[in-house]
Amino acid sequence: MSNILIAANNICKVYDQDILLKRGANFYALQNIDFNLYEGDFISVMGPSGSGKSTLLNCLSTLDNVTSGVLKVLGKEVSQMSDNELSLYRNKYLGFIFQNHNLVSSLSIFDNIATPLILNEEAPDQIIDKVNEIAKKLNIQKLLYKKPNECSGGERQRAAIARAIVSKPKILVCDEPTGNLDTVNSHELLGMLTKLNQEGTSIILVTHDSMIASYAKKFIYLRDGKIINEINRNNASQVDFFNEIVKITTQDSLLKLFNDTTDSKNVFSNNIDSSVTNSEVVIENEDNNKVSETSNNESMEVNVINKETKPVRRIVYAIFAGLEYDESSSKRYRILHFEEDTIDFQFSNIEKLHVTYPEVEKAIISMCSRYVPSFPMPENRFYLDLDLVLKDGKTYKFEVNNQRNATSLFDVLHQHNIKVEDPCGFEELYRSKGDYLVRHRWLLYNFRKIAKQYHLDNPRGESKSFY
Ligand code: ADP
Ligand code: MG
Repeated sequence: MSNILIAANNICKVYDQDILLKRGANFYALQNIDFNLYEGDFISVMGPSGSGKSTLLNCLSTLDNVTSGVLKVLGKEVSQMSDNELSLYRNKYLGFIFQNHNLVSSLSIFDNIATPLILNEEAPDQIIDKVNEIAKKLNIQKLLYKKPNECSGGERQRAAIARAIVSKPKILVCDEPTGNLDTVNSHELLGMLTKLNQEGTSIILVTHDSMIASYAKKFIYLRDGKIINEINRNNASQVDFFNEIVKITTQDSLLKLFNDTTDSKNVFSNNIDSSVTNSEVVIENEDNNKVSETSNNESMEVNVINKETKPVRRIVYAIFAGLEYDESSSKRYRILHFEEDTIDFQFSNIEKLHVTYPEVEKAIISMCSRYVPSFPMPENRFYLDLDLVLKDGKTYKFEVNNQRNATSLFDVLHQHNIKVEDPCGFEELYRSKGDYLVRHRWLLYNFRKIAKQYHLDNPRGESKSFY
């Protein structure tokens, strides 16, 4: 078992915690991130702009504090480390490369590169030796006595790399290091990073370029502060790995495009993505011919951990044929229609659910609690979860937001002889406590116990305070 250098357990980052008072909602730059950096790892990170990549790097490298969760470096919990211990850790174990190289313009390239060694209080002749050695490796010996603004972009970036690795850090953190480089220089840089990694440096690299990302051994994809995909390269060739990365990144941008065009009216239904789960899928090559083509030298074995393979739980308001419904709820949520003979739901322009009742194998009833940072009083709310399992094996997951006539849901299921699995007895609860406030208060006192007893995977969303 290899060593864990950085271990993040369920970390969240909120930049401006006062925002709760200003806007009534916390903005999570990182949400419930679990992440390990093992010795020898080379991990690339991608994600849309604003998805939290830089925040993740800053938190993992202790440049910024996490808001909640546990972060350990070299086995020590960061929140327990003194300032001295933290600076020691940063100076001794970490190297950084940023997009804008962050060289100090008033210092020569030599002095810039020497900075970490000076901070580590190394002997002057040792410092001179080490700077010269690294400069030779990166082919910048001739620049050592120039100032950064007398060098080209590529040269400055190489100087920044020299500074980052001169003290042979165990961990190298790179935030879009190729942002200012042309293709040739970028690939040269990645060649160097690969070599460093082979010599024992563990690397985390943020990039917006799938080709650059494919140099790594592992890939993670962030969206809205969450890790939604992970791939291990295993023995796959760089080209196969690259193709898998492209699949994920293009799929995500297409999904976003669809969502933006089809759902722009319905803020409520989009932005709560309760589907993130940890299922693991091994992508197999559908096309056997392709395998034999590529497998002569390297076998295709990209291991994709897709955190979104389980169906997305849709937040809905249910409307029942012939029954009254609440106008304002019907405008705020997407509608799950229980018609006379069919159940209908429009997922997007291209995907919809349209089934007759006999096609439904069973309905599974559960509940989640979510901490809603509403103004002025944040509170826990409870939502009924409905999984419709069809006879063809497909499952559709809904979070049903009907507070007043939720019993109609049970009525309609029974009317059509659909098996209802309701281990926690929520039907009974809704029938005996029809009044929302009475039920709500009861749930506030009892839900935690029920969730524990029945292993409900609650709470979802941003509920922190409840547990
Ligand atoms: P990325 O690097 O993926 O583009 P960032 O980690 O920089 O994303 O940002 C994630 C989110 O956090 C963004 O919405 C951004 O606006 C916000 N954010 C980043 N830095 C700060 C900060 N210092 N103060 C407040 N919000 C920030
Ligand atoms: Mg960034």
